[in-house]
Amino acid sequence: MRLAGQERRMLVSTARWAGADHRVLRPARPIAHGLLSESRFGADLSVDPAASVDFAFAWWLAARSPHSIVHLPLRTSAIRCEQEPDGRRLDLVLLHHSLGFPASRWKGLRARLRPPAVHKVTLPSRPFRALRRAEHERRHYQEFRDHLRWEITADTLFVTGSRHAFELEGDEVRALVEDSPSRLAEDPGAHCCAEIGLGTRSPYPRRNPMALLHVECCTSHSAPTGGHLSPSPAGRPVLATSL
Ligand SMILES: [Zn+2]
Ligand SMILES: [Zn+2]
Repeated sequence: MRLAGQERRMLVSTARWAGADHRVLRPARPIAHGLLSESRFGADLSVDPAASVDFAFAWWLAARSPHSIVHLPLRTSAIRCEQEPDGRRLDLVLLHHSLGFPASRWKGLRARLRPPAVHKVTLPSRPFRALRRAEHERRHYQEFRDHLRWEITADTLFVTGSRHAFELEGDEVRALVEDSPSRLAEDPGAHCCAEIGLGTRSPYPRRNPMALLHVECCTSHSAPTGGHLSPSPAGRPVLATSL
């Protein structure tokens, strides 16, 4: 599945909190198959091909929209994967570091969101620019500052970073979406994932320790008892919509 030109409708809500207006973006269509849970190494996200596109949109918006908080509500997904994670279920929030939005305010902000407007978002022909090897190598330098910061609070994984920090993982995200379906079609038992590095090797590891956001493309899932789920992305179920 090519990311170029993909379209998604996003709900755009605003809320005022602590004297500032904030804009929150969410997918208009709830993500049917997206399961995020805390893991020993950070967090595991299990997505089907359609949800991997939602994740890529969120990643792209976080890189490109420094004034928005991108929210993927995932805790409410009723889906069950073959390998059920034991960790705590989480939502995902991605945001640009220049917002300076403290994760501790998220719960309050979420409760204040005004009714949303719907915006259509179309990905460009190359959503994630190709990075040179030197740009990747720079992340091992001591003066490198574009780490993704992370924090778990209010049952939500917050990932914060600069545009460059999100772009550094862009190719992992692109490959997950574009390469996994064909690999899984050839070999249904293949392990297709994006390994997104979070945190830093800082001398203060408790502040932002190294962790992994492991995003796996999953094809072995089932709807809850009594539910109905079509296996193909095209037949992805619409659980609810406010449009
Ligand atoms: Zn699954
Ligand atoms: Zn993996």
